[in-house]
Amino acid sequence: MTPFPCPYVFPDSRRCPGHLVKIEAFNADLSWVFGESGGWTFNHSQPRSRYQLFCSERGDHAGDSLPEQMKCYLSGIYHVQGREALNGD
Ligand SMILES: [Zn+2]
Repeated sequence: MTPFPCPYVFPDSRRCPGHLVKIEAFNADLSWVFGESGGWTFNHSQPRSRYQLFCSERGDHAGDSLPEQMKCYLSGIYHVQGREALNGD
């Protein structure tokens, strides 16, 4: 499987050479539901706030000047999906 490249771009326009090694979800709801089959089913929601990306070279880039690039906010994702839906009509 091809690794996902790190999205971080340094202030001098150089791309980080790392690849993603971890994604953490913030404020996601987890639940277990007991079903008629007698087993528990695990469910998880989309996170309510954001994802934090970690790469193989610099982790979450917290020590670099633009660590915000490693945070994915869901409001932005929903906005893009909404636009695509509008264009499809
Ligand atoms: Zn990186």
